[in-house]
Amino acid sequence: MSDLLDLYQELILDHGTCPRNYGRLRGKTVGQAEGVNPLCGDKVTIYLRLEEERVKEIQFEGRGCAISVASASLMTELFQGKTVTEVEELWRSFKEVLITEVTPSEKLGKVLALTGVKAFPARVKCATLAWHTALSALKSQQQPPLSTE
Ligand code: ZN
Repeated sequence: MSDLLDLYQELILDHGTCPRNYGRLRGKTVGQAEGVNPLCGDKVTIYLRLEEERVKEIQFEGRGCAISVASASLMTELFQGKTVTEVEELWRSFKEVLITEVTPSEKLGKVLALTGVKAFPARVKCATLAWHTALSALKSQQQPPLSTE
């Protein structure tokens, strides 16, 4: 188990210092949302582009503690190419892992490195900030149902 914890710490350190998918996406079809965690001072902006209900591109910008940056980085890797439904399911599983004792879904992959924050309730908001924000960006991107009237 301690090997696993070492691996998790390495992943967080790696993604916290060299975040993947960092930068701004531009274009008319890009959805974006901003999130702030005042408790820690973390800020994140998520940019994403959907194509046929799938995450075609997702990037982020922001600053904050290593947990918040690593979480955004790992999450953007995970969401890449996923359908909207899959993204919503992953978010549900991640939340569940952080607040209950369920066995984590293997689908979360490397994101499981973040489950260590459970022991530090104040850091849970650092880990979930990017996720809340990505879900808002996703909602901003989904077309409202066409009115038939
Ligand atoms: Zn933080």
